[in-house]
Amino acid sequence: MRVIIIGCTQGGTTVADTILKVTQDVEITIIERNSKISYQPYGITIACQNQQCVPLEKMFNNSISNFKKQCVTVYLEHEAIDIDFNNKFVIIQNLTNETKKQVEYDQLVIATGAMPKIPKYCQGLSHIENVFMLKSYSQGKSLQQYITRNRHKGKKVAILGAGQIGVQMIETFVKNNFYVKLIEGEDRIMKNHYDKKISDIVTSFLQEQECEVHFGKKVANIQQKEESNEIVITMEDGTEIYSDAVLLSIGFTANTSFLLKAAKKNNVALENIDGAIVVDQNSQSSINNVYAVGDCACAKFNPTNTQQYIPQATNAIRQGVSAAASILHNYATNQKVSFDLIPSTGSQYSSAAKVFDMAMASTGLNTHQAKEHFHDVRTSQLTILEKPLFSESNQEVTIRVIYREESKILLGCQIFGQKNNIELIQIASVFITNKMTLPQIAQQDFAFNPWFGKPVHVMQQVILQALLGVQQE
Ligand SMILES: Cc1cc2nc3c(=O)[nH]c(=O)nc-3n(C[C@H](O)[C@H](O)[C@H](O)COP(=O)(O)OP(=O)(O)OC[C@H]3O[C@@H](n4cnc5c(N)ncnc54)[C@H](O)[C@@H]3O)c2cc1C
Repeated sequence: MRVIIIGCTQGGTTVADTILKVTQDVEITIIERNSKISYQPYGITIACQNQQCVPLEKMFNNSISNFKKQCVTVYLEHEAIDIDFNNKFVIIQNLTNETKKQVEYDQLVIATGAMPKIPKYCQGLSHIENVFMLKSYSQGKSLQQYITRNRHKGKKVAILGAGQIGVQMIETFVKNNFYVKLIEGEDRIMKNHYDKKISDIVTSFLQEQECEVHFGKKVANIQQKEESNEIVITMEDGTEIYSDAVLLSIGFTANTSFLLKAAKKNNVALENIDGAIVVDQNSQSSINNVYAVGDCACAKFNPTNTQQYIPQATNAIRQGVSAAASILHNYATNQKVSFDLIPSTGSQYSSAAKVFDMAMASTGLNTHQAKEHFHDVRTSQLTILEKPLFSESNQEVTIRVIYREESKILLGCQIFGQKNNIELIQIASVFITNKMTLPQIAQQDFAFNPWFGKPVHVMQQVILQALLGVQQE
């Protein structure tokens, strides 16, 4: 069986790795337009934060030599430019000498990921120095080099977009002695994940770290002064913000345009939502023998049971496992043996961000999103000292839950607290996947020992508060 994987970072690498753990008899061909594979872009904050930057070269989770040792054919600096879905072949182009080649497949995995969104005001601005993005290895490297060169020069950096990446990069810049200006078109940080009450707590915390915030501000134009190289960001309301560098972090868009064109040309339907390929629980697209995993695909969003675009490493990896298991299942069936599928359980868009020494995390719907789907949305929020039973501590954690009044099903959860509180979101995520109700959660059997916690788990404290009707919001 011949398997082609287009794109090789989180999704593509997982598919290849998972297949190879079971058999080397499947012929795998990887096509990657970069010169490196398996880059983990989320390592950038770690790579840039300490005084001696950890080399970005450590941010890879697999290597070409490892794949080659396992008889995988790897075409690096080759781009897949066209696909014949009917006759099952991919046209690839060598990016160095532009020669083209046809490669046949039995099963095709699309793992082409996403590209950073580039707003109109940034298009054609390649002449402006020090505007950074953070998706590829080379983009990460450029930013890391800029930070290393300028860390003690009192430079100003504007972060455009207060999503998970923008918010996390504040600490990276502040710890390297940059003055940060956070610019967000919405009225607060991470509006798609958090309720205003949590966003506001985090914003106050960021301001204490001397981060300047500009909310509700839409950028109209970016220019660079010739004499000083200073960047002038002009807002739609005419105000100007000055900075030495800009980090663009306003989101991602699925990298699938050549696939959609190829499907159209072949007269086959490649179901997608705004370019993100719709897949089933085994990562199969609407075209037979064609899988899609990661940032180029949608995932099932459990709280509303709808297909959504959720560009996260966790999805890329889980969908990669499902696709690999399905390919192995097909391979095993041909060999007249069996191999079990590992279908995806969907996603709650669970995410976490490190904010200096604190952590914020969320899963499921926030109140605003929940109200778009359900008429009986309720919330409950609790701030408590998080400590073992008889100990002293001033470590607070704020937990907010969103649920339905009638069915009492948990829809979402958000936290802000010490880093170890991230585990609360992991369990809330499991509750939401399993559509658990507040009474069921209140009655879950969690381990307790006075050295580690309290007899009523902190998650159960906020759930009980909601059920008993105390401090409802
Ligand atoms: C700064 C940053 C921080 C992040 N932090 C987190 C985090 O904390 N938690 C989390 O879950 N996620 C995080 N993410 C998201 C996560 O990195 C992505 O979801 C993940 O990398 C997606 O992997 P992927 O394999 O789907 O695609 P991508 O990583 O986008 O890779 C796609 C690959 O396909 C190649 N390709 C595309 N088109 C072609 C073609 N036509 N021919 C050949 N090759 C092609 C590209 O060169 C690329 O290497 C972060 C992302 C960034 C940028």
